Amino acid sequence: MTKQVASILGVPFTTRGFRDSVDYMVERIESGTQTHVVTANPEIVMLAREHRGFRSFVEQAYVVPDGIGIVYAAKWTNQPIYERITGVELLEALMAEADRRHWKVYLLGAHPEVISLAVEKLAERYPNACLVGYRDGYFRQDEEEQIVQEIAEKKPHLLFVALGAPRQDEWMVKYRDQLNASLMMGVGGSFDVISGKVKRAPAVWQKLHLEWFYRLVSQPSRWKRQLAIPRFVLTVLKEKWSSR
Ligand code: UDP
Repeated sequence: MTKQVASILGVPFTTRGFRDSVDYMVERIESGTQTHVVTANPEIVMLAREHRGFRSFVEQAYVVPDGIGIVYAAKWTNQPIYERITGVELLEALMAEADRRHWKVYLLGAHPEVISLAVEKLAERYPNACLVGYRDGYFRQDEEEQIVQEIAEKKPHLLFVALGAPRQDEWMVKYRDQLNASLMMGVGGSFDVISGKVKRAPAVWQKLHLEWFYRLVSQPSRWKRQLAIPRFVLTVLKEKWSSR
């Protein structure tokens, strides 16, 4: 999709920074080119490494470095990735563009009360963005076709999907040819943050690159998933040393 890439364990990350990435996405949306954005952290990289189907779709997406582990891995392998690009920040930046350009936006995912609160907050903050529809993420499989059809009829410029990773990405891959969305992006827990239900790590933790640790402490049930982080670090270092 783009030549400006760094390979982290075979996953092609963009080397564009935050602002350049947003500009690039705007350009693609305005020119009617469909784009699938994946915000990938070490867990996603390990998953792509281990599951060929998931890897082949990640290879076709615009992948941004979501997680300080990715930035460090780039540094250890002498590749030019200098900043994290998180899903929630990208969502806000794209909403600001939607506000400026009167784009249509559809939101899918999270608990019913969370998504309606998130819609309320986003509508308040970005009054000129056109929120054409939303739907919670706890639907039955036999409801999917109708959801896909509703999104397709709305033809959104932006489709944000929060079904948890990697389900959200698999879902978009499955339906991407039918969804009629210019840009689709999985946004994980972003609606929980926007609604105020979940707090992001305080700025100082983010600055110290410890947001992952804050998440672990505040949501201890995630520890098993976060085991991907040490596995990721070890694999990157092993590959670096074995290529010497
Ligand atoms: N979620 C959903 N349907 C599901 C599972 C999860 O809508 O069947 C939502 C969940 O409510 C949350 C979001 O997906 O808003 C992200 O979930 P999680 O924190 O597990 O994913 P992560 O951000 O770690 O990828």
